[in-house]
Amino acid sequence: MTKGNINVSVENIFPLIKKFLYSDHEIFLRELVSNATDATLKLKHLTNIGDAKVEYGNPVIEVKIDKEGKKLHIIDQGLGMTADEVEKYINQVAFSGAEEFLDKYKDSAKDSGIIGHFGLGFYSAFMVAEKVEIITKSFKDEPAAHWTCDGSPEFTLEPSDKTERGTEIILHIAEDSTEFLEESRISELLNKYNKFMPVSIKFGTKQINDPEHTPETTKDKDGKETTEPHRQITVDNIINNPNPAWTKQPADLKDEDYSQFYRELYPMQFEEPLFNIHLNVDYPFNLTGILYFPKMSNDMQIQKDKIQLYQNQVFVTDNVEGIVPEFLTMLRGVIDSPDIPLNVSRSYLQADGAVKKISSYITRKVADKLKSLFNNNREDFEAKWNDIKIVIEYGMLSEEKFFEKAEAFTLYPTVDGKYYTYEELFNKIKANQTDKDGKLVILYASDKDAQHSYIESAKAKDYEVLLLDSPIVSHLIQKLESTKDNITFARVDGDHVNNLIKKDDTTISKLDEDQTKALDELLKSVIPSDKFQVQLEAMESTETPFTITQPEFMRRMKEMQATGGGGMQMFGNMPEMYNVIVNTNSKLVSDILAAEAKEDKERLITQSLDLARLSQGLLKGEELTNFIKRSYDMIK
Ligand code: ADP
Ligand code: MG
Repeated sequence: MTKGNINVSVENIFPLIKKFLYSDHEIFLRELVSNATDATLKLKHLTNIGDAKVEYGNPVIEVKIDKEGKKLHIIDQGLGMTADEVEKYINQVAFSGAEEFLDKYKDSAKDSGIIGHFGLGFYSAFMVAEKVEIITKSFKDEPAAHWTCDGSPEFTLEPSDKTERGTEIILHIAEDSTEFLEESRISELLNKYNKFMPVSIKFGTKQINDPEHTPETTKDKDGKETTEPHRQITVDNIINNPNPAWTKQPADLKDEDYSQFYRELYPMQFEEPLFNIHLNVDYPFNLTGILYFPKMSNDMQIQKDKIQLYQNQVFVTDNVEGIVPEFLTMLRGVIDSPDIPLNVSRSYLQADGAVKKISSYITRKVADKLKSLFNNNREDFEAKWNDIKIVIEYGMLSEEKFFEKAEAFTLYPTVDGKYYTYEELFNKIKANQTDKDGKLVILYASDKDAQHSYIESAKAKDYEVLLLDSPIVSHLIQKLESTKDNITFARVDGDHVNNLIKKDDTTISKLDEDQTKALDELLKSVIPSDKFQVQLEAMESTETPFTITQPEFMRRMKEMQATGGGGMQMFGNMPEMYNVIVNTNSKLVSDILAAEAKEDKERLITQSLDLARLSQGLLKGEELTNFIKRSYDMIK
C-alpha cells in the first residue's frame, strides 16, 4: 500500500473546487462519462494498431445508483490504469493543472464553465462527492489499483482484486448533493449531455417484448380468438445513440434519416422541418453538424437556443451565440466542433479568429443550400418561402455577405401569389412604375384584407403589388433602397403612391378655380388639421370621393422603431398624421358644393371622412358609435 500527499499547495481541495466550479455541479457526470469514453476509445485505438493484444469486444459504460449506500458508480471497460498511471494522471498531472489554473484565475470572480478544459475533469467529482474511489485494472498485465480520497490532499493507493479490465469510479455522494442519487435526475443528465456519445452507455434495465417469441392465438369452442401476451425480457437500458446522423457522410444519409434524427433531437417537436443543411469540414477547422430549417412563418418570438453545440459528441451548450450568426440562431440542429474555445467569455469568443471563420462558413453553407434549393426546384422553394423568409430577411439585414448571396434566391411575392426574383420584378415594372424623378416605384401591401381597396385600385392601373408582410420588412425596404440604384418602395395606402406617373395624367378637374378654393376652405373648416392633411385631386374615376393615405416615411419609421431600430424614438411619439385625398371629380363633391344648408355640407363631409377612415380601420370608439348613429338617421 502506498500513502502519500497529493502535490497541491492548498489544505483541502473541497473549498477550491466548490468555489471555482460552483455554478454547474451537474457537469461532473459529463466529465466522468467523458473520461470513461476516452478510456474506451483509447483502448480501441490501441487494439486497432496492435499495441494492445486484448479483445476489444463490445464495451459499454455503466452508470449505476446505489441509493442505500449513497453511492454513484461509473464503470467502464476501457484501457484502465496501473498503479503508476494513477499516480501520474490522477495525483500529479491533474494537480499541476489545477495549480496552473489557480495561478491564472485566482483574481477573477466569474469562472464558471471552465471545468474539463484544464485537466480538472476528474476532480469535478468532488463537487458532489465527499469521497471518491477509483478501482482500476489496466489492459496491461499488471495488478489492479484502488485509489481513495476524501477531498483532503491525502489519498491512499493500494492493490485491488479487480480482475476485469477497466475502471470503476465510485462517488460517495455528499449530503448536499443527494439529488444525484435520484434516478430521474441522472437520467435527465445522461439525456442532456451524453445522448450522442460514441460509446454505449447503460443506465439500468428495461423490459421489452422478446423478439424470439411470437404470441400464440387460440380459438375457444365458440370460435372466439385470444392472443397470449407478449413475453417480456429484461435488457440493458442503453441511453445513447453512439452513431448520430451528423457523424456520417451526407452521401450515406437519406431524407428519412435526417427526419429521424430531427425527431431524436426534438422528441417533443411534431412538425417536420422544411429542409436541412449538412455541415462537414475538416480544414481550416474541424466542424460537423446538421442544421434544420423549421417552419417559422411570421413569428418573431421563435424560441432560440435550439441549436445544440457538441464537442466530439459531448453536449456542451445550447447557447450558440457568437458561434452561429445571429440570424441563424432561429434554426435547429447540432454543431460539433472540437475547435471552439469554450473556456472564454462570449465577447472574446466573437473576436476569436477561428470562431469567426466558423461563423462565416455556416453562413456560406446556408446561402449555398438556399441557392441550390431555389435552382433545383423553384416551385417547391416558392411554396416554402413564407416559412423561411423571416430568416432570410433577417440574414440580409444583419450579414453583408449573406445579403449579397441572397440576391440569387430572395423572392418578392405579389398579392396574386406570383413570386419574382428582384431581377424579374425589375424587368416587369420598369416600363410602367416610375415616378417624376425617374425612380422605380415598387408598390407593396402589408395586409391583403386591410388594404384591399388600395390594392384593387393599383391593380386597375396595371401596377404590380407585392405582398411584404413580415415584421421586419420596413428595415429591409430601407436597406434595399439604400443599396440599389434609383428605387423607392411605396405601400399601396401610402402617399408615395401619388408620385407614380399616371399613364393618363390629363384628367381635368370639373371644378373651376373659385369652386376649388371654396371646396378647399370648406373641407379645412370641417376636417381637423391636426390629424389630417387635405389634398384635392382630379381623378379619372368618379367612384372614390375620399381616400385616406398615410405618409410613407412616418409609417415606416414608426414600424422600424417598433421592431427594434435604435435612434428612432422620436418617431414613436409623433402623432398619427394622414392625408385625405378628395376627388374633385366625384359626384359627392358636387353634392357637397350644391348643398344649401351649412349643416348639410358639414354632415356630408363628416360622413365621407368617416367612411374613408372606416375603410382604413381608423374609426374607433365614440367616433364609430356616432358614425353608426348618424348613418341610421340618414336612412330613416
Ligand atoms: P482530462 O480528461 O482533461 O485529461 P481529467 O482530470 O478528466 O483530465 O482526467 C485526468 C486523467 O486521468 C485522464 O487524462 C486519464 O489519463 C485518467 N483517467 C481519468 N478517468 C479515467 C478512466 N475512466 N479510465 C482511464 N483513465 C482515466
Ligand atoms: Mg476528462
